[in-house]
Amino acid sequence: MLEREMRLHLLQGKTIVVMGVANRRSIAWAAAESIRKLGGKVIFTYRSDRAGRELQKLCEDGFVDEKPLVVQCDVQDEASLEAAFAAIARETEAVDGLVHSIAHARVEDLQGEFVDTPREGFDLALETSAYSLVAAARAVRPLMKRGGSIVTMSYLGAERAVPNYNVMGVAKAALEASVRYLARDLGADAIRVNAISAGPIRTLAAKGVRGFNDVLHAVEERAPLKRNVTAEEVGDVTAFLLSDLARGVTGEVIHVDGGYHIVGI
Ligand code: NAD
Repeated sequence: MLEREMRLHLLQGKTIVVMGVANRRSIAWAAAESIRKLGGKVIFTYRSDRAGRELQKLCEDGFVDEKPLVVQCDVQDEASLEAAFAAIARETEAVDGLVHSIAHARVEDLQGEFVDTPREGFDLALETSAYSLVAAARAVRPLMKRGGSIVTMSYLGAERAVPNYNVMGVAKAALEASVRYLARDLGADAIRVNAISAGPIRTLAAKGVRGFNDVLHAVEERAPLKRNVTAEEVGDVTAFLLSDLARGVTGEVIHVDGGYHIVGI
């Protein structure tokens, strides 16, 4: 009973900003559900009007006890980022956590040879998928008055040359390096910064990667757990990193991939 009580209250009193819900399959949505299960309060940011409508529907279905704050935020637009965090600051006394679950690249740059990536495709992927973490960390820092925890989503393509992942792999490498530099800067303010390297999960973003089904099959065959992971499993590790159980962890990349990254052939 005591354990159950502790589990339910692990994020009690914490306010967490979750960026990147597009629909119910989004890893960000699974993270929000895990946060709510552990007693945390969620504030959402979304990009498109469509995602805003999806979020509204999801909140009506799943967040019945309390209507969360939902704010539009396009991370490629500095004014939008500023306005979003100003709106959040008006509504809450302090923020304790931030989930950055955002990435974007052009479909044509997620196939073929990486060497053919044009400058504009490279810039877009790096800006949206890596620089956005830096910008979001800077925006949330003044709101993390009691310290805090920032969690972002990465993938094995940051460490290995995965076919078709191409420019997004390079963006994820920049993202993981940014986690280390941000952890170093923000540690003095008791703000931790970590990444989860998630295994492949069928989401809207994953649809853009050519040959995604082959990646899912490879994990089933070769990962120590012999299966793919779920968004819920990634959501639960996100909640752990946001909680005080992880108070000694920063600058880290935790793999939630059924162990796929440890195997040779
Ligand atoms: P998703 O499509 O549900 O989420 C991606 C989100 O990024 C969307 O909500 C989209 O609106 C948002 N986004 C893109 N450009 C934006 C911008 N300019 N401003 C604000 N938001 C923007 O897909 P997902 O799989 O849940 O992706 C979430 C994160 O998880 C991404 O960083 C992705 O690379 C990472 N990830 C996914 C997988 C996977 O297999 N699905 C594996 C490892 C890591």
